[in-house]
Amino acid sequence: MPTGKIIKALSGFYYVFGEEGIVQCRGRGVFRKNKVNPLVGDEVVYQAENDVEGYIMEVKDRKNELVRPPIANVDQAILVFSAVEPDFSTALLDRFLVLIEFNRIEPLICITKMDLASESRERLEQFAKDYRAAGYDVVMTSSETSQGIEELFPYLEGKISVFAGQSGVGKSSLLNALRPELDLRTNDISMHLGRGKHTTRHVELIHVNSGLVADTPGFSSLEFTEIDATDLNYCFPDIEKLSENCKFRACQHTAEPKCAVKTAVESGELPEYRYEHYKDFLEEIKDRKPRY
Ligand code: GDP
Ligand code: ZN
Repeated sequence: MPTGKIIKALSGFYYVFGEEGIVQCRGRGVFRKNKVNPLVGDEVVYQAENDVEGYIMEVKDRKNELVRPPIANVDQAILVFSAVEPDFSTALLDRFLVLIEFNRIEPLICITKMDLASESRERLEQFAKDYRAAGYDVVMTSSETSQGIEELFPYLEGKISVFAGQSGVGKSSLLNALRPELDLRTNDISMHLGRGKHTTRHVELIHVNSGLVADTPGFSSLEFTEIDATDLNYCFPDIEKLSENCKFRACQHTAEPKCAVKTAVESGELPEYRYEHYKDFLEEIKDRKPRY
């Protein structure tokens, strides 16, 4: 039986993109027994009734699952931050990065509206350098001048990507820049991206070259509710790497002696703001009321 990916779910139908194109499928009892509710992004086995209709027979195991929007198997989050309007914030970027790392999704940092960055350009270049040193890819773009847009395409290949970032940073503009043929239908897209709160929880994966991109941004909640203090180290790959040389195995990089992370801050190897955000988040997690 053929396999495919659910790219859209609507009114009890699942639109499965497989080798034969898009097949409109209904669910069959088989997976309902396992209480699996098929999600956009799911890899499924389906039985074709004809060229355009079929039944989903099996939902494959997921590698992850986002709640808002409901989407499975997200490979990459494109973190969109604007150079200005709103101003670039490393505190907010670090917060998004922690949540994305925690979900085991590959982040890609995109600093957009570069056409509007004048006096802040040098500062932004420095931030891009810092984040590259931390192990992240950073692309600087402008949906206005198309700067950097070409650079984004290879990152999308063969993956399911979601956009993330504050409202107004330029997510829908970026998606439109990636899909110029959608320009005339801008409203379709920006309706979801821009006004997610007012629309139903409908999400659709859109083809961009050989990649799939969600039309609704992810990570709308920026709370650390699921994250424990011991997880945080792993959500900062640069700090995690440094921590291999801390004296104590469970070092939290605060009051402990012989902490390689603190040494790296002192020597300038680790930007101080990254460490400050780590400590802020640790406090926030520790102050959190118990969940149960
Ligand atoms: P979203 O809420 O993240 O989807 O942001 P939008 O894509 O709706 O963009 C918010 C505003 O910023 C709109 O007025 C856009 O025209 C503007 N904008 C988005 N990207 C750019 C850019 O690269 N350059 C400039 N100059 N303006 C942009
Ligand atoms: Zn340490």
